[in-house]
Amino acid sequence: MHKLLSFIICFCYSLFLSIFLSTSPDQGTKGISLFYVETGFGHRGMWSKDDKGADFGVDLGVEQSLHLRRLKNKLGTRQLPTAEIELRGTPAILISEEGRGISGVSKMLTITRLHNAISSAAAMRRITSLAIDYAHRRSAFSRHLIEHPLHVHTLSCMEVETRGALLLTLEVARLLGAAEGRNWGQQEDAQQEIKMVIRDEHLLRLLTPIAKLYTAKQAVRVVSEGLECFGGEGYMEETGIPCLLRDTQVLPIWEGTTNVLALDMVRVLHKSRAAVLTHFLDHIEVRYCSCRVIFQSSNPINFSYLLPLFFQEGLSHHLPSTLKTPANQVIQASRLVVDFARWSMQEEKSVGTGKCIEDNDKGILQVLESSARNLAYSFARCYVGYLLIDHASWTGAQATDVFAAQRWSNQQLCLVSAQGCHSVDHAMDKELVNESLRKMQPPH
Ligand SMILES: Cc1cc2nc3c(=O)[nH]c(=O)nc-3n(C[C@H](O)[C@H](O)[C@H](O)COP(=O)(O)OP(=O)(O)OC[C@H]3O[C@@H](n4cnc5c(N)ncnc54)[C@H](O)[C@@H]3O)c2cc1C
Repeated sequence: MHKLLSFIICFCYSLFLSIFLSTSPDQGTKGISLFYVETGFGHRGMWSKDDKGADFGVDLGVEQSLHLRRLKNKLGTRQLPTAEIELRGTPAILISEEGRGISGVSKMLTITRLHNAISSAAAMRRITSLAIDYAHRRSAFSRHLIEHPLHVHTLSCMEVETRGALLLTLEVARLLGAAEGRNWGQQEDAQQEIKMVIRDEHLLRLLTPIAKLYTAKQAVRVVSEGLECFGGEGYMEETGIPCLLRDTQVLPIWEGTTNVLALDMVRVLHKSRAAVLTHFLDHIEVRYCSCRVIFQSSNPINFSYLLPLFFQEGLSHHLPSTLKTPANQVIQASRLVVDFARWSMQEEKSVGTGKCIEDNDKGILQVLESSARNLAYSFARCYVGYLLIDHASWTGAQATDVFAAQRWSNQQLCLVSAQGCHSVDHAMDKELVNESLRKMQPPH
């Protein structure tokens, strides 16, 4: 089916072909459809003039129907130009169901979000390696930086963050690979296979926005810390380090900002009717709890279908004693996170202060929406803790792997609490924010 796109402004521009989303604004996301556009960039662009004869932009693409309005002047990622492009009567092929563009593009979003997480982990690794190297060369207060305990501690915290980000990213890649390359019928027990597939799909859907948003935030923090590790030199353009910080700052923005992704995670919870929470907790508990703990748990989860996997994959290994406390911290925190998410999704009539919420759905949404960012961070911290412990528990792991897992698990893993929900007060949030605005306005 061919369509003519009448008008749309896009940020991106590819040399070969582009995919654009066309929207009917009055229909919200339901009006968004997915189109394929051949840019025909082989044509030389022709600059067009405005009424006064000044350069206005450049026409590109199929019969000049793509109009490049201007290149953006960006903070970073200048190696990759970003343009405002106007489409005027551009031939395009509708490649999703009409109005179902978001669902059509969702697979691509999973991949681009994974790419974002890869860039985040890579930026962290780069700055951390550079900073560690610099610490062996630079002397301050008559010693190399690497001889100063406080500086070493700073570097070590960066290293733990970097390892955590990498493990989370690789886990999403593993789940995506499993989803894409699945060969049905490998397991003898078909029911069990279906359950495992569903579990992995839920985990992938939950962890994709979380990994993107969390690693991006970590990257900005770690790269900024890394820049500081070079002292004044880190601020100088000729070192290339300011460029790294500028490039990193886009990671929490494109492919969805932190808030937008946190709300995406909330949608996953709703869409799965909280089943994803069961899978999240199962995945962590089955790995680390002894059978005794699992079956004494008050949690009404049926683990039986996972038991074959438990033994088949050799997961019943005993954790080294050094990892028992971290594992316990991660499990306890994961339960709190899941309890909070369940609580806020359940038919609660009152929120915190005892205030009755008449419109239950709206009330629940408000608590969940306002807490979405902290909830996403909590999921991320627990899951990264789980991965670091997992990594440290295999034969061949180093003492430093154990230490990294311990360091990670000692931080506050769960940032939400069902008891603390009275602190989610949208009206007061708004009042606080608007008060600042009022103070900035000149008196009448
Ligand atoms: C260098 C660069 C290149 C880009 N390249 C591309 C590209 O190739 N293709 C493409 O399609 N896009 C591209 N983008 C666009 C990018 O994806 C968007 O800028 C980004 O998703 C944020 O959307 P926005 O700019 O509309 O911000 P807004 O939606 O206006 O967000 C502003 C602020 O409001 C918050 N916010 C918005 N909605 C909510 C909500 N419901 N609840 C809570 N908070 C909210 C956001 O978190 C953010 O902090 C690019 C952007 C940049 C900077």
